[in-house]
Amino acid sequence: MADCVFCKIIAGEIPAATLIETDKVISFLDINPVNPGHALVMPKRHVASLLDLTQDELHVTSFLAKRVATAVCEATGSPAFNILENNGRAAGQLVDHVHFHVIPRSPDDGFDLGWRQLSYEEGRLQALRDDIRKRL
Ligand code: AMP
Repeated sequence: MADCVFCKIIAGEIPAATLIETDKVISFLDINPVNPGHALVMPKRHVASLLDLTQDELHVTSFLAKRVATAVCEATGSPAFNILENNGRAAGQLVDHVHFHVIPRSPDDGFDLGWRQLSYEEGRLQALRDDIRKRL
């Protein structure tokens, strides 16, 4: 897609610190990392959301994310990592070309996901479970 920064990287029109690429997928370092070694992994085909991926694209992309996570953790000496994938502005997606973030983590690295833990009102958990199950 013409105005997509990741498509421009894939087309070789702008530079990136590429880690690996095949005909279907690519991984390069995030230009503004959460931690050094923070990598992005994505299919080359331009789609915005995880929901737009074919089963094969999802398989190949997530498998590459696993390989990249292993290499990034080894290279940075990190004992842990997050894999994050944002879909839509409300979820924090800034670039509308689906991508996995592979973020190496270490104790006290100062990154806080801000993961809150709410509680359900009486009956709400069961009602939601039933509604979601109907749609699967
Ligand atoms: P998201 O908010 O999930 O869409 O993440 C987009 C990510 O793309 C951010 O972490 C940016 O730092 C990263 N990014 C944007 N432009 C570039 C670029 N030219 N090269 C590498 N990473 C980029």
